[in-house]
Amino acid sequence: MIRIRKSCLEKWKRKCTYCGKKDIPLQVEHIQPKSKGGSDRVSNLCLACEKCNQKKGNQSVGEFLRKKPQIRSLILKQAKTSLRDAATVNATRWKLFNSLKETGLIATIGSGGQTKFNRTTRKLPKAHCIDAACVGEVGIVEFKTQQPLQAICRGQGGRQKAAVNKYGYPIRYNPLKPIKGWCSGDIGKNLETGEVGRVNPRSKSNSFNFTVTGKKAKSIHVSKLRLVQRKDGYTYKFCSLLTINVQENAV
Ligand SMILES: [Zn+2]
Repeated sequence: MIRIRKSCLEKWKRKCTYCGKKDIPLQVEHIQPKSKGGSDRVSNLCLACEKCNQKKGNQSVGEFLRKKPQIRSLILKQAKTSLRDAATVNATRWKLFNSLKETGLIATIGSGGQTKFNRTTRKLPKAHCIDAACVGEVGIVEFKTQQPLQAICRGQGGRQKAAVNKYGYPIRYNPLKPIKGWCSGDIGKNLETGEVGRVNPRSKSNSFNFTVTGKKAKSIHVSKLRLVQRKDGYTYKFCSLLTINVQENAV
């Protein structure tokens, strides 16, 4: 029930659906009353302030808002669109879940509302990595670090051997083999400054392009580079520190 209330608050932006008032106690309300065949689904629920709820009573939205057709059609549209979106997401989700189960690995699922519920009841800050730990039935959430590492899939790069100009005429040869032991995208360390960045080797020169995240690319001699990691199709980045207390492991 708390979960339904939370998702309703999100969906209707913490306002009374009928009069738009904010910062007042809101009740979960049936758009079509149950006595008139309305369901308990989230798509039939909205928020109403005490006053509107009393005034609406057992009427349908059509009757209640017969003098405000604009608001009425807006509410019905909002309720319906989220239903359509939800249907698509649902179908995809089950297909994905069943495919994962077929691998024989342990797969569990949970709703977005449940994730948020798990996170907020544990008084954890909002972050993608924390949400990932809060999906489904969750026991104790234990943190080993305050700083998550973000790995973004970027693909393995192209297989095009010749760079072409805008007419399709080959202008440069791009060897697929490493140049002096380096491939473009390899992560290297600048032995002079200690900086770590991406290396882009040049076939005709011993000066390679070296890019540190957030800085402009510069030239660096190949002898001043040490390999940290081969390119693997991912970029890595340290996220900002989380406001959690790692010492107090069990939150
Ligand atoms: Zn109201």
